[in-house]
Amino acid sequence: MQTLPVTTVNRQAIINMPAEEFRTIGHALIDQLADFLEQLPGKKVTKGLTPSEVRKSMGADNHLPENGSDAATLAQQATSLLTDHSLFNGHPKFLGYITSSPAPLGAMADFIASLTNPNCGAFILSPVATEIELQCIRWLSELIGYQKGCGGVLVSGGNMANIVAIWAARKNMAQWNIREEGLTEKGLKFTLYATQQVHTWLHKTADLFGLGLQAIRWIAMDDSQRMDVQALDKQIQEDKAAGFIPLAVVGTAGSVGFGTTDPLAGIAAICKKHNTWFHVDGAYGGLAAALPELQEMFEGLKDADSIAIDPHKWLYCPLEAGCTLVRDPNLLADAFSFHPAYYQFDKVGDETPVNFYEFGPQNSRGFRALKVWMVMQQAGRNGITEMIRDDIALSKQLFNELKKQKNIEVYTDDLSITTFRYTPDNAPSNEQEKEEWLTRLNTALLNNLQKNGELFVSNAMLDGKYLLRSCIVNFRTSLEDIKGIPKIIVRYGQEAEKELKG
Ligand SMILES: *Cc1c(COP(=O)(O)O)cnc(C)c1O
Repeated sequence: MQTLPVTTVNRQAIINMPAEEFRTIGHALIDQLADFLEQLPGKKVTKGLTPSEVRKSMGADNHLPENGSDAATLAQQATSLLTDHSLFNGHPKFLGYITSSPAPLGAMADFIASLTNPNCGAFILSPVATEIELQCIRWLSELIGYQKGCGGVLVSGGNMANIVAIWAARKNMAQWNIREEGLTEKGLKFTLYATQQVHTWLHKTADLFGLGLQAIRWIAMDDSQRMDVQALDKQIQEDKAAGFIPLAVVGTAGSVGFGTTDPLAGIAAICKKHNTWFHVDGAYGGLAAALPELQEMFEGLKDADSIAIDPHKWLYCPLEAGCTLVRDPNLLADAFSFHPAYYQFDKVGDETPVNFYEFGPQNSRGFRALKVWMVMQQAGRNGITEMIRDDIALSKQLFNELKKQKNIEVYTDDLSITTFRYTPDNAPSNEQEKEEWLTRLNTALLNNLQKNGELFVSNAMLDGKYLLRSCIVNFRTSLEDIKGIPKIIVRYGQEAEKELKG
């Protein structure tokens, strides 16, 4: 007879944690994290460590220990490591890229979600969680004024939300059985439309779907970096005449570089005329459509066939949370639903449940919806719009403060993104030399700033000019933080100047 290991008797697996121990360690963990929150504004945004410095701080060369160790110590040490060596996008002076300050309730939601661990692929594995995700999607669509009865799915972020939308478009726009036959010759005639301001998810999509980057038609922009709708119309006409199949037009609502929004209503009309899929990338700006005063900017959003929005940006949810919305839930099912024999999920009692594995590329799915659902309720519609409005107002204020500052030139100001650069008096007079010098100077300035952690901004390119760029998606940033920024930029500019000359 086979003998069972003795450890199976009254089994006490090493990672199990009895409730009493969980309580003790958990309380200590919360205390440590509360201290972190309290100290955060006084910390540097980042220590700007190099990869090798980080590796040293965490014992990266150590081997996996043969034996386990104490959970309380591990929780305490991991928290210290992360609260000492991270870049804090929750810091009031983190104004880089488009990553938000995370709402503490959102972090608590992730904790609850992990411990209850519903698998949000199928209703029977996640009954409450599935219904919460459905409600969350409905709330998101209502918040931005999208169509009633639309469908959606939560995904990892903006890239995935956009890719999933084009995936649905691909199935919908193919007049042949693309699932069985694949692209065939016809699919290789698919074309995509966007401006150069589009985020690189489109490159990944064209590549992933086997269309190649050449399938992307780059549509001209007006002076304010918005799509030229007439140029779009013309390009689609030419492509159709040449036998191409326009698959989707991408309008951006809040571009990653400058926060600009394409003329969505104009694009919607062209898409309707040509019977082409209209997708809106609102990963950054889409949620600002909740603001009544911005209705004009977002006119046409509701006519999109699909929209990508990112709750981990302007809804301040901790990473990761993106969302694809489509005008009809069946469009997702058409693209993603398969029925393997090992899943008997189609009926619960005599009701037909929603099984999210049929609405997107994931099978097992985490409970991303909880943080979005809880944060939305904590803030309410009014709280959400107020926070977005305040970010925009602070960004405009920053633009004005920078404009007043000697030796700073301001460039753009849209939604909560502002661009500017340091321009000392003694720049070369030759135009080309001046541009090269300012690029080197501002690059050095930004490197030092990012390394030093006093303030965190990023960069953007505008007509060949290297600019500094701030983006406020941060409910912790206040007027006091903004007011100090021009002086910080000038100080770092002067230091960079010395460094480059010395
Ligand atoms: C941030 C962003 C993305 C990518 O979203 P992730 O969440 O980083 O994957 C795509 N498009 C726009 C306009 C964005 O701002």
